[in-house]
Amino acid sequence: MKIVDVQDLVFSFSSEGEPVINGVSITIMKDEIVGVLGPSGSGKSTMLRLIAGLEMPWQGSIYIAEKPVVADKLFVQPENRGVGMVFQDYALFPHMTVGENILFGLSRLPRKERKPRVAEMLELVKMGEFAERYPHELSGGQQQRIALARALAPKPNVLLMDEPFSNLDADLKAEIREDLRVILKKANITCMIVTHDRADVEAICDRSIEMGQREKIG
Ligand code: ADP
Ligand code: MG
Repeated sequence: MKIVDVQDLVFSFSSEGEPVINGVSITIMKDEIVGVLGPSGSGKSTMLRLIAGLEMPWQGSIYIAEKPVVADKLFVQPENRGVGMVFQDYALFPHMTVGENILFGLSRLPRKERKPRVAEMLELVKMGEFAERYPHELSGGQQQRIALARALAPKPNVLLMDEPFSNLDADLKAEIREDLRVILKKANITCMIVTHDRADVEAICDRSIEMGQREKIG
């Protein structure tokens, strides 16, 4: 089953110059962990934002789990796409506990299933003891796990991760890569991971795709 199917996507932040995304097509099958490589400025973050519904493309189509979310005049809102996202800076709500952060996205789940789901997600990322803590009381690696738990909690069709290692110490990276791969495989989640480091892809991903290098003028 195709979980992400992007066809001939075109997007630009302005009407002048070359579009940031210029006719990109991407297909990702169920349970694949795919790395998205490319130099800074090649449109990796923009691509994830388009799939998540945080930007509106000029042309092209996007299907998630075989349902159109962008096509002709159709534009499905982010919360209705079944897409989870972990942002580069994690974007945890600072005034909410870890448990409240994870609970936040579960309003569509029957009330009695919400607390058990939070516990299940904390267990998955091995943070079971941290439900009552606040984000600022956690290390960078721990905050990342909570961001991951929050994104996975509604059981999305696909998880998008933007530069998951950029805020972490280099000496922790090897360990965290391995942990991340174990968590993603345990969660049976289809995943796109943006990175500029080929070694991340080799350690975690099943395969990779490359965003085109932008032409320099002169
Ligand atoms: P990457 O994640 O691969 O580094 P981005 O998707 O962030 O690349 O950016 C692609 C291009 O779009 C860059 O030239 C960047 O400057 C530009 N860009 C990104 N976000 C915006 C924005 N909000 N407004 C205008 N231009 C942007
Ligand atoms: Mg980026």
